[in-house]
Parts: sequence; structure tokens; C-alpha cells
Amino acid sequence: MQQGLRRAVPCHRGQRMTCKNPFLRGAFAVLATGLLSLFSATAQGAVAPVSTRGNEVLVGGQPGSVAGSSFFWSNTGWGGERFYNPQAVAWLKKDWNAGIVRAAMGVDAPGGYLADASNKQRVATLVDAAIANDMYVIIDWHSHHAERYRAQAIAFFQSMARAYGDRDNVIYEIYNEPLDISWHDTLKPYAEAVIAAIRAIDPDNLIVVGTPHWSQDVDVAAADPITGYANIAYALHFYAGTHGQALRSKALAALDKGVPLFVTEWGTVNADGDGAVADGETAAWMAFLKANRISAVNWSITDKAEGAAALMPGTSATGDWTDAQLTASGARVRAIVRGWPALDAGGWPRRRLRMSSIADRGAAGSAAIAARAP
Ligand code: MG
Repeated sequence: MQQGLRRAVPCHRGQRMTCKNPFLRGAFAVLATGLLSLFSATAQGAVAPVSTRGNEVLVGGQPGSVAGSSFFWSNTGWGGERFYNPQAVAWLKKDWNAGIVRAAMGVDAPGGYLADASNKQRVATLVDAAIANDMYVIIDWHSHHAERYRAQAIAFFQSMARAYGDRDNVIYEIYNEPLDISWHDTLKPYAEAVIAAIRAIDPDNLIVVGTPHWSQDVDVAAADPITGYANIAYALHFYAGTHGQALRSKALAALDKGVPLFVTEWGTVNADGDGAVADGETAAWMAFLKANRISAVNWSITDKAEGAAALMPGTSATGDWTDAQLTASGARVRAIVRGWPALDAGGWPRRRLRMSSIADRGAAGSAAIAARAP
């Protein structure tokens, strides 16, 4: 039935003009205009909105997770910035089946945003490309000392919220990895200030909050969570060559306390970004994330000569990457991302506005009701 509905609107926006009859073309244009105004909220971004409920992240109102890759530090002169282009994002969608990318905007480190505003344009390039490819995108304030730059973070995220707050694709990550600093005295006040600024502009998009100790102490944040705002999740970062069951136990403790988690950065290798792929722990982590429907964004898309880099040195920045151009980590992550569980019907990112959205929403509602039934 849904296929039939799609075929009944051959001149739909976003499709090639296949309609040969001028009268039909005009009629369908009127119909399409009406639908666009009627369902403009659905049309924005063409992905399902992300929200939270209890300790779950919901995609399209249902528990679900997405997988993809983070780009490397955006900093000028660091080598990863050339990958911040639309073709790389499109390739990750097409060949890796990635549902999400992350723009890791360097802030205070040399060549970062505070010294070179072109970093912000790199972020915008990735966000625009993610929207064009119906993907989620994390706007990451990639700093280890963000509490020192709170005013700059507020101004930056206000700008991003004004530009992209009506796009369901966008997720804000307001502090990549705090070091060993106090959650209660330093991180939580920072987060509350930045969240308040975003929420004054964008009432709903997911905000991911960094947690102490390189975004590992999610249990500490969960014991003293941010209240008063909807759609807040907590960052969990791990590197499989370094972190294992002990960190998974902390994650479970956080979930048990009722907060949702989002893995905005993880690696197959050691926590310093180098070393070999840790096969067994990578598998254990992926099983854990899938079982708990936690999204996973791998570090990183770059050709730096280190274990965490997905690409061999000298690889083209614009996609079309062959198997031989993937590192051991890149090949492993590509397989993981390609095989990530699909979202349920109501949560699957919609490629474009279509009449069957109505049927999808009805089905999603029915499924949610059925899931809650005893
Ligand atoms: Mg919004």
C-alpha cells in the first residue's frame, strides 16, 4: 500500500521530474504544496526526531540507536580538516550505511575555533552534508577544558541552534571530554548554562553532556543528574584496547540510575588513539551497546598514521575509499556500521516527505502501544 501511495505522487519534491502530463504536473504541484505545509515538521531534516525517556534514547519515539563515525579534530593544520567535505559524508552514508557523523570542532587547542573561525565553517559543511544525506550529525565542542571557555561555547551553540535548531538531524555535544574535574562544582554548572542558552532557541534537539574523566564517569553524573530540561543524554567514551567490563559496569550503573547514554566517541584501539584493534573487547562492547540500544560513533575519519585512524595515510579526502585504503580499524568499523541493527519502522530515518508518513506514524503509535501492553 505504501508503495502505491508513493507512486501516486510522481512529481514529488526531491524526485526527478518523471511526470509527462502538464495538467497532472500542476495538480500534483498543488497537492505537494499542501502536503509540505501540512507536514512541514516532518519535512524538516527528513530524519525522525531524537528524544529521551527515562534511561532510553528514542528515535522517532521508539528505543533505537544509530552508528557512524566521528571526523578527526577540525583544527587547521592538523591534517584531518581536509576530510570535512560533503563527498566524504555522502560516501559514509552510501558505502558504510552510516546513520550519523560527528563534527569534532577543536576549540582551544592550536588551530582550533578560538584562533581560527574557519573551524566553524567546517562544522557547517558537515552539518549541511548530513542533512542532505538524511543522517544525524553531532556538533561537538571538542575540548578538554571547555569550562574555561563557557561564554564562547554559549555564543557558538546559540549560533548553531539558530541555524539548525529546527533540523531533527542535529545533536549538540557541549563538552567532548572533561578531565578529572568535579561534576557537581564545575561540569554540571557549565552544562546547565550552555543547555539553558540552547533551549532558549531550540526547545527539543538532543543535547549530550560530557562526563568527568574523559567522559567515562557516567555513574557520577547519573547520581546528580541535570533536571528541568528534556532530551538530555550523557556521553560515554571508551577505547576497547584500554577499557572493558569495568567501564561497562559503570555504564550499567548509570542506566540503572535512570539516565540515557550516548557513545559520541569510541575506538577499537588504545585510549591514546594508537595500537592494534582489540578484537575481543570491540566485540564485547558492540554487543553491550546493541543490547542497551546505545548509539555509537567511532573515532575517526582521518588518514593520520595511528591505530584509530580509519584510513591509510595519503587516502583521498572525498570518499570512494577501497578496502586497501582502510586501516584494520577502518575495515572493522565499516563492517560494524554496515551491520548495525536497523531502526524500527517508526524510527527509520525517512528519505523524504511522503504520504506514507501518515501510515508510518500510525504503525509506530500502534507498535508503541503494543509494546507497553502486558
Ligand atoms: Mg529543535
